[in-house]
Amino acid sequence: MRKKSSNRPSLSAMTEHVERLCRNADIIWRPWLQRVDRAYCLRLVDCELFDISREIVTAPIHSVFSYATALHEIGHYLSRYQRSKNSVTRERWAWSWGRANALVWTEAMERYAVRALARCEKLERRRHKTGRRSAAGR
Ligand SMILES: [Zn+2]
Repeated sequence: MRKKSSNRPSLSAMTEHVERLCRNADIIWRPWLQRVDRAYCLRLVDCELFDISREIVTAPIHSVFSYATALHEIGHYLSRYQRSKNSVTRERWAWSWGRANALVWTEAMERYAVRALARCEKLERRRHKTGRRSAAGR
């Protein structure tokens, strides 16, 4: 087993960080999912258009991956280009924001983010191929 890094923040510190970021940005956080990869948020443009609260839905913070995912979802409100029609652009900037604002960003978190972004790019290419309009990115 790898030695746990001594400067790694605890799960409760990461949870409190997400709570604080959400509080400061008027985002409702619902950490009630079972699976990390099912996380989502209400689209910024929809929140603005329909005057509804910003809301992210994620798994509770049980690992650096659920932490990275929660930051990514917050990034969908606080990073640049979230009004872009291009879902890959939105995804890329949301991950950049998460990376830049995390208490810790490990190599494993980076691989996780790269994989998630690659999945999104693949989906987007498929949509282009079939001529369908781009759906909401996650
Ligand atoms: Zn996303």
